Amino acid sequence: MILPINIYSDDILRQKATPLKGVDSGIKELIKSMFDSMHNASGIGLAAPQIGHSIRLLVLDISCIAKYASELPMVVINPHILAVKGSNEMEEGCLSIPGVQGDVLRPASITLKYRDANFVEQTGEFSGMLARVLQHEIDHLDGTLFVDRMEKRDRRKVQQELAALSSGNVKADYPVVAREQIAAIQG
Ligand code: ZN
Repeated sequence: MILPINIYSDDILRQKATPLKGVDSGIKELIKSMFDSMHNASGIGLAAPQIGHSIRLLVLDISCIAKYASELPMVVINPHILAVKGSNEMEEGCLSIPGVQGDVLRPASITLKYRDANFVEQTGEFSGMLARVLQHEIDHLDGTLFVDRMEKRDRRKVQQELAALSSGNVKADYPVVAREQIAAIQG
């Protein structure tokens, strides 16, 4: 099922998400919907808070990028970054911040402990695009967005776009929960 994606300035994107205690049929269904929603929006990563669930769960699939065509999709639950190495700058975007891109400096590789889709503990070392997407999505679980990590000068250049998103002026070719809809639900 394709779920609408929460947009910049939505409170849920600023919350620290809660760890999962296990994977039941509801979570399995949610994981499937997260992949559907991510693929529908041509995204390569999606964190549960972006579809309205403040839990420590993310999915990613970078196989649509030709260079990474053989990379398998990943389900990551309760991730902990154990170690980082090096650093590099890469341009990022986010399904919750449509139309905005910017360079972000991050560690180049990470050692990650997490639970997989069967809630089995895994430890792995990730570099390149996988390390990049994992760190971006793990940030979502802590209420951090990539624009928070942009250099001030670069951030000023996208300030107008961010203000437009905050006021509910969202142009995306996938379903979103924009500000006035939230007001309608709450009101
Ligand atoms: Zn994002």
